[in-house]
Amino acid sequence: MSDRKVRVRFAPSPTGPLHIGGVRTALYNYLFARQHGGDMILRIEDTDSTRFVPGAEEYIIESFKWLGIQFDEGVGIGGQYGPYRQSERREIYKQYVNQLLDAGKAYVAFDTPEELDAKRKEIENFQYDATTRMQMRNSLSLSASEVERLIAEGHQYVVRFLIEPGREVLVDDIIRGEVIINSSILDDKVLYKSADQLPTYHLANIVDDHLMEVTHVIRGEEWLPSAPLHVLLYEAFGWTDTMPRFAHLPLLLKPVGNGKLSKRDGDKLGFPVFPLEWHDPKSGEVSSGYREKGYLPQAVVNFLALLGWNPGNDHSEVLSMEELIQLFDLGKCSRNGARFDYVKAAWFNHQYLVNQPDEAWVPSLQKILEENGIVSTPEKMAEVVRMMKLKVIEYTDGEGNKKKRNISFVSDLWPLVRFFFVAPDSIDREDKFVRKNWKEGTAAEMKQLAEVLSGIEDFSVEGQKQVVDAWTEENGMRPWNAWRICLVGAGQGPDMYELSAFLGREETLRRMQFAIDTLG
Ligand code: GLU
Repeated sequence: MSDRKVRVRFAPSPTGPLHIGGVRTALYNYLFARQHGGDMILRIEDTDSTRFVPGAEEYIIESFKWLGIQFDEGVGIGGQYGPYRQSERREIYKQYVNQLLDAGKAYVAFDTPEELDAKRKEIENFQYDATTRMQMRNSLSLSASEVERLIAEGHQYVVRFLIEPGREVLVDDIIRGEVIINSSILDDKVLYKSADQLPTYHLANIVDDHLMEVTHVIRGEEWLPSAPLHVLLYEAFGWTDTMPRFAHLPLLLKPVGNGKLSKRDGDKLGFPVFPLEWHDPKSGEVSSGYREKGYLPQAVVNFLALLGWNPGNDHSEVLSMEELIQLFDLGKCSRNGARFDYVKAAWFNHQYLVNQPDEAWVPSLQKILEENGIVSTPEKMAEVVRMMKLKVIEYTDGEGNKKKRNISFVSDLWPLVRFFFVAPDSIDREDKFVRKNWKEGTAAEMKQLAEVLSGIEDFSVEGQKQVVDAWTEENGMRPWNAWRICLVGAGQGPDMYELSAFLGREETLRRMQFAIDTLG
């Protein structure tokens, strides 16, 4: 690596919510920058005004705040190299477009959309390049005075990059190695449009990377086809010596089947593809987000980091941001697409969730309880979390199979903890557990147990245990399952003493009486 200070950038276009693949790109930039004591820039590439979506920029900034990915410079932060929004840099780009025009490395073209369409119909696989450009209306085929006249009359034009055919263009990619392509396959890309006086992505991107002294361009694989053009642009400007190094990251693939991960996969299988919930300003459509689904940002960072890279078998998969910064190795990223595993994402969330103090679950649990009309105290809710967080739940996978998994979201708790707050108002006699554990004589046994319980002064777990254990031993009783039916209404829940201590004597006795009355 050269001795320049590492500087990377994440350069989203504000065309909608940030896709989770974009988040991974930003994360890899962040890990790389931190690892090298470098800077990370947030640049907004908004030169295509037709695709601008209001709210997208704010969404992007909020997403990174939530994820704990901090930029050193850029939109919303400032810095020495601003402005960082491309729409505010028009004058800068004009200057560089003129530089290319003056050097004869770019030219002005007047072809209208209709003329281009006609050419496409006339020539199969038409491309605007060395083989066709002299048949078109541009400053190479027209006389200088004609060009001057057209511009003076206000005709719209574009500036195209003059690609010399037959050259081998080398893209030296940190992940993919040396990729060589022949310049003849490239077209004379539009760099600038007079209509909106704005450059296109390619020109703005290169000029900014140069002026912002970017040393490494780490971005998605979908940009690899643009890289040879970018190399040629650096050359045309005479910036080859300080050209950034490229690293094109592998695609994120669908959980099942071929192709790249899309929002439809998420909708079908029930996982988000955006970091935060997104409310589309035009259609009003709401797309789910990791944050609102109950993911912890650390878990999202951890599982995204491992989509396309892994630290090898000597390391746990559960890695903090600090550990990721230590271990990350850009050169060891995979070239092959990384399959998106949403079950694994939930697994990561479980790891982080259970390592949080019980109190940290409370605000989310409280919200769920309130939605169900239940009021409780923070202490009681934390108590419930402690008793239940390591239980497993059943779920149905994408193919309709019933499976079990750990509690991965606070919302998983609700069906498992309802009975702590709401007494059973019916008990299903036909339930397997009830049939097996509520027989003749059970009601009488429960009456006895209720009597024993009502005489206990100290209703804590220990207090009950002393008295009830002695009573069961003396009488050879095994009242646990029937007692569970009384307090839960079914065969689930925590240790019985913990549950009765939680409910308190009065509620415990009330539920027992209800079961005795109902089941007889
Ligand atoms: N504006 C491009 C995007 O939306 C940036 C691509 C690049 O990083 O060069 O992803």
